[in-house]
Amino acid sequence: MRLERFTECARILDPRSGFSDGRHEIEVRIDPLTGATCRINITRTARPKHILRGAEEVVPSKCPFCPENLERETPKFTPDLIPEGRLKSGGAILFPNLFPLSDLHGVCAFTPAHKLDLDKFLKEEIYDGITCCRKFFEIVGGRGAPFHFLGWNHLSSSGASLLHPHFQVMASKRPLHGPKSCLEASERYWRGEGRSFWSDLISSERGSPRYIGETTGFLWFAPWAPTGAFEVMGVSGDAKASLLQLDGREIGGLSDGIVKILGGLWDLGATSVTMAIISWPSGEEADWFSMSVRLMVRPSGNISDRAFLELYGGEVGLTTLPEDYAKALRERF
Ligand SMILES: [Zn+2]
Repeated sequence: MRLERFTECARILDPRSGFSDGRHEIEVRIDPLTGATCRINITRTARPKHILRGAEEVVPSKCPFCPENLERETPKFTPDLIPEGRLKSGGAILFPNLFPLSDLHGVCAFTPAHKLDLDKFLKEEIYDGITCCRKFFEIVGGRGAPFHFLGWNHLSSSGASLLHPHFQVMASKRPLHGPKSCLEASERYWRGEGRSFWSDLISSERGSPRYIGETTGFLWFAPWAPTGAFEVMGVSGDAKASLLQLDGREIGGLSDGIVKILGGLWDLGATSVTMAIISWPSGEEADWFSMSVRLMVRPSGNISDRAFLELYGGEVGLTTLPEDYAKALRERF
């Protein structure tokens, strides 16, 4: 039996020590049977946390992601990677995660607002955020980290330690376990069926009871077997494999769809979401893959949605049929 592990090292200029060059070691361990992967950075216990308890809510003056504090309190990338230290695009700004889980782990603050309800996000803010993350993936893709992942936890019940809305980006020479399974399964389907799984999926879902709507370049629907509550998928309708292949119009369509879904989920009573973009690695072509975004609702109260079934059973317990909430979300499109 092989007990595999390897380390990654994130280099960031740390604001807590006058922007000196700091190194963070991340240990990545692989389960010998399943290949499931975990990432350990023991310094993450020191992360500041914004926990919502009404009056104790963290005020903007103490938030490192609020515009008046950001330049002073967030770290910078080393000049060999990003000469300016941080990347900007429109109103979005991307900087290293101070408590990284991979050698390239960034945070993108895309709105000046410290706290936003799901129905208050602007299409332009999401657009700037995604465009900024894409710029980062382009840079690191050319520097030996072609696999990229864009994630978003909104509010503490989704896993966000800070309240201020922010995307997270991870990039590496190796894919994360989840996206890797998805990329590999898509290739297997192509070899077995002679067609793209994603084209078949679009044909099957367009007009189905789970269909929600379309925006420029994207089709939105509730998946047949959701991996979380009220889960929604947006898939590239033009079979673009990677976020890096989208043009400005399509990033606009992606942002438009995300904002419509967030608003619709808010109407259904949701307050917290988790989102991820699954995208093909940079510099490679793949006729069998289309990029997608997935969003799920996270708990509003203090009961976790991740219990023994999800954590050890590897399956998800749900309470709502995708066909039912798709119908409600359709009204936003
Ligand atoms: Zn803030």
